[in-house]
Amino acid sequence: MRKHIVAGNWKMNNDLAQTERLIADLKKQSKTSDTEVMIAPTFTNLWQAFQNLRDYKIEVIAQNMHYAENGAFTGEISASMLKSIGVSTVILGHSERRAYFNETDDLLAKKVDAALAENMRVIFCFGEELADRKAENQETVVENQIKNALFHLDADAFNNILLAYEPVWAIGTGETASPEQVQDMHAFIRQILETKYGKNVADSVSILYGGSVKPNNAKEIFSKPDVDGGLIGGASLNAEDFFAIANAF
Ligand code: PEP
Repeated sequence: MRKHIVAGNWKMNNDLAQTERLIADLKKQSKTSDTEVMIAPTFTNLWQAFQNLRDYKIEVIAQNMHYAENGAFTGEISASMLKSIGVSTVILGHSERRAYFNETDDLLAKKVDAALAENMRVIFCFGEELADRKAENQETVVENQIKNALFHLDADAFNNILLAYEPVWAIGTGETASPEQVQDMHAFIRQILETKYGKNVADSVSILYGGSVKPNNAKEIFSKPDVDGGLIGGASLNAEDFFAIANAF
C-alpha cells in the first residue's frame, strides 16, 4: 500500500514571526489521518519549525541542499547539517531550482546520492514546460529527467524516493493539469519504473502531483489511481486550505 503524502513547499515566504503564526494555525487544523503531512519552510526557520512541531504529525522538510558533505561552498547547506537539526526529507529538482539556479540532471543525481547517503528521503521533482506539452513531448522530457537523475540507483534506494510530477506550466499559474493528464503521466512514470526496476518498485513508489492544487480540485486529482498525493505551493501558505487539501484523500 503506497503512502499518501501532502507536502507544502513554502518557497521563499514567511519570516520567523510569520512561520510561527502559520505553524500555530496548522496545529489547530491538524488531526490524525493516514495521510503524511509535510511542510518545507525556509532554511532559517527549519529549526524553529521542527521544535514547534515535535509533538505533531507534521514533518518539517527542506526545500533544497548541496551535494557536498561540507567545504568551500558559500551559502550552501549539506545533508548532514539538515539531519543534525532533525530534518530527514528534502525536496530536490524543483522547477524553480532548475530554471533560476541552473540545476541540471547531473547535479541533481549528485544531490540525490548525497541525501540518500545520509539516509534522507528525497522528494524528486520533474516536469515538462509548456512548449514540451504543446509539442506532445512531455513523456520524453519526463522520462529523461527521471532516467538521468535516478536510474543509476539500485532498487532499494527507491524506499527513500518520492516522485513529484510538476508540469512547469501549472506551477503558480492557477492552471492545473486535468486529472486525466495527471493520471496518464503518473501511469507512464510507473511504467518506466517497472521496465527498469520491476513491478514491486513501480507499485511501491509514491508519485505526487504538483501544480496549482487547491481545495476545490484536490479531491478529483487525488481520486486517480496513480496519484498518491500532492506537492503544494501557494495553497500551503494558508493552514485551512492546506489541510482541506490534505484531507481530500
Ligand atoms: C510548487 O511550487 O511545487 C507548486 C506546485 O506550486 P503551486 O501549488 O503554487 O502551483
